[in-house]
Amino acid sequence: MPQLGQGILKGMSITLRNLFKNKITRQYPEYKRDLPDRTRGMLTVDMDRCIACLQCMRVCPDHCISIEQTKRDADGSGKPKPYAVGFVIDDSRCMYCSLCVEVCPVNCIYHTEEFEAQAYNRLELARQFGERPVDPTIDPRPPVKKKPKKAAAKGKADEKADGDAPKKAPAKAAGKSSEGDAA
Ligand code: SF4
Ligand code: SF4
Repeated sequence: MPQLGQGILKGMSITLRNLFKNKITRQYPEYKRDLPDRTRGMLTVDMDRCIACLQCMRVCPDHCISIEQTKRDADGSGKPKPYAVGFVIDDSRCMYCSLCVEVCPVNCIYHTEEFEAQAYNRLELARQFGERPVDPTIDPRPPVKKKPKKAAAKGKADEKADGDAPKKAPAKAAGKSSEGDAA
């Protein structure tokens, strides 16, 4: 049978045992612990290497990357190539899934060890990397390209033909069987 006050004595003994041990509390933010090697902190982009392929923007499940693309002869080759004139990452929506990092063909978007993102206004968490600011409130999903009218009409005609084909076959088969019955 448990004796009265046994629980209090047990608790106090633990307190006394830990009272004179070295303190392990770190005074954040003055002292920060080392982060693991594969820490996923806030994203950054090396705009000199970005080829404006838009793959990171398309793959992001939270639509937090917006890129304004143009064509520019940046390397002086005489052939204008896609160029990211505006590039914004909205940290208020990013969930650090790293899909954009994995999909980048030139590894120019990557995580840093920075994780202290805070602001009074949500829009302040949208970080601009390009030379022209991009509105982070606009849904960055590129518009779906519609089929040209001719192709759409041809597609419909093909679908109709496909749909008619199996209907005729049973009718013919039915005719044959009825002939057979008559004979
Ligand atoms: S880490 Fe994930 S959520 Fe954040 S920008 Fe990249 S794809 Fe989007
Ligand atoms: S996937 Fe990489 S190269 Fe392509 S637009 Fe994004 S950051 Fe630039």
